[in-house]
Amino acid sequence: MRIVSLFSGRGPVVSCEIFPPRPEVEISAIFDTLDGIRDLAPDFVSVTYGAGGGTAANTIEICRRIISHYQLTAMAHFTCVGQSRDGVDRAMEAMAAAGVDNVLALRGDPPQGTTDHDWSGGAFAHANQLIAYIAGRRQLGIAAAAYPEGHVQSRNLDEDIYHIRGKVAAGAEFLVTQLFFDNRFFYHWREKAMRAGISCPVTAGIFPVLDSRQLGRIVQLCGVQIPRPLAEIISRYGHRSQDMRRAGIDYACRQIVDLLENQVEGIHLYTMNKPQVAREIFSQTGLRKPGV
Ligand code: FAD
Repeated sequence: MRIVSLFSGRGPVVSCEIFPPRPEVEISAIFDTLDGIRDLAPDFVSVTYGAGGGTAANTIEICRRIISHYQLTAMAHFTCVGQSRDGVDRAMEAMAAAGVDNVLALRGDPPQGTTDHDWSGGAFAHANQLIAYIAGRRQLGIAAAAYPEGHVQSRNLDEDIYHIRGKVAAGAEFLVTQLFFDNRFFYHWREKAMRAGISCPVTAGIFPVLDSRQLGRIVQLCGVQIPRPLAEIISRYGHRSQDMRRAGIDYACRQIVDLLENQVEGIHLYTMNKPQVAREIFSQTGLRKPGV
């Protein structure tokens, strides 16, 4: 089932993102996470790829289990950095064999610590090229990434939106956003994207800040701003882990409620493999499906 068909206007599409365990940890560790997410009945679960050393095989195997064991819809992330066409073909064949119908097609980032990465080492320089390649060969539902505050490498938001439009033109059926902590960025971006002719569904990435130490790296990696209310939470509770956790969940819930009031088409929760946090957020915001 292609995920885009879920954006039918009957309510927001709710999804959870998880990541494969680090290579030294048994892959089965992820099933504890999924056990905790299953009865929230998210519309789909997405599984990251590459970041932290995960392999395409791990991502696809976890997606296979999400579909066959948990009877949930899965979306595999896939990055084309350093990939040959053969490598992409093999990964897409593995997805088909695992019953994975949906892929989040990404460029990816160069290996950590490198500053002068040679992008010509792979067959695809940007996600739009990967998307066009996949769309031309496979009957897969394709999503792409969007950045409400602009991608860190973009000169400005207009340029970034221009390239996102290119990904949609190449075959992306819906967009999943980068995390953001100030909904005003999302609304501003949504307005601009609409005016630029991007009409596909967009699901908003929400990341609950549970630990103030995570933030420095997130800001650096994702180029997102910390608005004053969140900065105040961190300065008040940052050194008290339980209070910080509670305040971080509350903040994410307030973001979600505001987005729902403003007709967001989807909420994509970055769970950080913490099902209890997802459960609290689903419960506090009413995202939990009726009857669950
Ligand atoms: P692109 O769309 O190629 O954009 C990258 C930069 O190039 C942008 O600045 C863009 O404006 C510009 N650009 C785009 N197209 C062109 C073009 N044709 N010509 C010139 N410039 C262009 N990373 C992982 O490693 N694994 C994951 O699982 C993962 N999951 C993610 C999930 C989400 C929802 C998001 C938002 C990001 C995720 N990432 C992941 C991070 C992502 O790989 C990085 O943000 C990466 O730097 C950009 O990927 P992209 O697909 O947006 O690239």
